[in-house]
Amino acid sequence: MTFPTRKVRISELFPPEQPEPDRCSPLVPIKVRIRNWQARLGRLPSKDNLIKRGIAIGDDRCYLCHESSETGDHIFLSCRKANEVRRAINIWWNLLPTHARTMEEFFNDLGRDDQPAASRNFKEIIGQAYIWAMWNGRNEAIFNNKSFDSLRTANAIQSFAFGSGVAIG
Ligand SMILES: [Zn+2]
Repeated sequence: MTFPTRKVRISELFPPEQPEPDRCSPLVPIKVRIRNWQARLGRLPSKDNLIKRGIAIGDDRCYLCHESSETGDHIFLSCRKANEVRRAINIWWNLLPTHARTMEEFFNDLGRDDQPAASRNFKEIIGQAYIWAMWNGRNEAIFNNKSFDSLRTANAIQSFAFGSGVAIG
């Protein structure tokens, strides 16, 4: 006896959602904002989320460091590779949160309004680019078998920030 099977697309399990428009800089492209909003809510298809949905994925190791279990918070906040990227970025601009333990804390820190609007905007762009670049680097490691390079990722974030047209300082 055989059972009918249906292929389920990852995008069906993790449908994109609209970001809160008033909390995102208009200088950040919409696709980046949607992806990052999913990261904030813990809804990206990281290994822990796939396991929760009963999808077999082999081991649960992080694709970047191969040391810890892959969760959304790990990829962006506690992974050794994530720390390397943040350290490189913070040598240029000391703007990325380093003590956030959850994505909610990370985004809350980005949106703190105790700084001038110009540097707040720039900080948010750097933060959004960071999340985007880390997730892309992780996917490149999985799907294109590219080893994750922290400095290359930091350089990509820097290029994105310069291309945003926001004055620094
Ligand atoms: Zn890791």
